[in-house]
Amino acid sequence: MSDPRLHPIFIGSDIYRNSTYGPNHPLAVPRVSSTTDLCRAMGWLTAENFATAPIATDADVLRFHDPAYVAALKRAEATQSVSDADRSRFCIGAAGNPVYPEIYRRPMISAGGVLLAARLTADTGIVYCPGGGTHHGRPDRASGFCYLNDPVLGMLAWLDQGLTRIAYLDIDAHHGDGVQDAFASDPRVLTISVHEAGRWPHTGAADDRAGGAARNFPVPAGFNDTELRTLLHHAILPLIRAHRPQAIFLQCGADALEEDPLSRLSLSNNAHWAVVSAVRDLAPRLIVTGGGGYNPWTVARCWAGVWATLNGFTVPATLPAAAESVLRALRYNRAAGRNPPGHWFTTLRDAPREGMVRPEMKALAARALEDS
Ligand SMILES: [Zn+2]
Repeated sequence: MSDPRLHPIFIGSDIYRNSTYGPNHPLAVPRVSSTTDLCRAMGWLTAENFATAPIATDADVLRFHDPAYVAALKRAEATQSVSDADRSRFCIGAAGNPVYPEIYRRPMISAGGVLLAARLTADTGIVYCPGGGTHHGRPDRASGFCYLNDPVLGMLAWLDQGLTRIAYLDIDAHHGDGVQDAFASDPRVLTISVHEAGRWPHTGAADDRAGGAARNFPVPAGFNDTELRTLLHHAILPLIRAHRPQAIFLQCGADALEEDPLSRLSLSNNAHWAVVSAVRDLAPRLIVTGGGGYNPWTVARCWAGVWATLNGFTVPATLPAAAESVLRALRYNRAAGRNPPGHWFTTLRDAPREGMVRPEMKALAARALEDS
């Protein structure tokens, strides 16, 4: 058998195709389907490296989630409505967590994909689940567009396999609160989150360590590629290496990109790909998921490039016509969708957004390394 780490697996599903949270929701836009189509158009997906996510069983997700909550999601999908009691108890149909046609099946398939990823990496391997990364999900309620928490379920599956040292790195623009809280005070799982300071869910301060198991990097608006690289090499990678992980879970949300409408961070997709490269070989097992990301062009370009990075595929300076067609077919109901710049259609790689490293980066790095 050849080394499975040389042959990463992409887990996708058609459940994401034409599934939206409603026309006025940030998740009105396609993300996983466009990423998949883009990778296919590039010739980067084959019968050998693509797997379809199975739907999780109720028993699978009850490892973390509350049975009454899972039953409420099923009820919401069946009736396409929510009772006042379920709304207030489970936050379904409230606070950005709408009732939508696939409200039960889509999160269950995202969870099933990540659980498959944990099985495929039981010995060693690299798996990419762009549909995963729902890091705000709570045991008994929806939160921040997330109904289930597939990163938590995936890492619990690794722990159930007997692993004792896992590193979770979250570069979404929002704090990975649901994951941090799930593993608070659990020395087996180190959770690291880089996120915009002062943004929802307003947790993840620099001195928030969740009983020792977490490190947080709340970063200011305008956070650039150079600043991320500084944190990565001076704090994040040393922390991960010191934990000696048997497995790494990377939540690679695309909402910290400059053009994303939900944050004020200024990364280019080079930053995301550099993080993927940097963690790729730090442990024998790696699962990479998506996460946030609300500009359909920047998400698809970023996440297709993540797959290229995991495989060592060359990203061409100019996309072939089939890939350009995938990007030209995207529609976006916001100002940025009216006159998208040409390079959103013709390239994957952004121009780098290097810049000044502000003094707070050194302070954040130093603080995260104290007593570690
Ligand atoms: Zn986010």
